[in-house]
Amino acid sequence: MPRPLARHRTRRTAHAALARLPRRVRGFRSPREMAALFAAKRAAKFTALRDCCRRCVYCGVSLEPESATLDHVYPRAKGGPDVAGNVVSACAPCNRRKADMLPSEFFLLYPEAGLNFMRYARSAHRALKRGARRAVSLAYAA
Ligand SMILES: [Zn+2]
Repeated sequence: MPRPLARHRTRRTAHAALARLPRRVRGFRSPREMAALFAAKRAAKFTALRDCCRRCVYCGVSLEPESATLDHVYPRAKGGPDVAGNVVSACAPCNRRKADMLPSEFFLLYPEAGLNFMRYARSAHRALKRGARRAVSLAYAA
């Protein structure tokens, strides 16, 4: 037996209305998505802490998971990737001080931070460490 026409029509209209809506609302994340993001961020933080000797790679202060922040060595603001080799643990003051400076600029200003970086940032990509070494020797040569 065919379905009643009225019901069929409402279903079609509802579908048409849905099709006009944007696929996802900007800035909206479901609780499940938020939980997944939070878990991923937490895991990244623990990995960075483990690989950076549980210290701030710039000042060398020892960090707890609550006080640690994640720093992108090559800043996100300048196109740095969000990958493990570019993420290190840092204390909040150092993270703010570094802001969106390139590692070469930062280590020229704060050569001690560069020395600590070479010592503690074991997971950082070797190109970043090479850059740090160069910036530190430039800073001390000046
Ligand atoms: Zn620090």
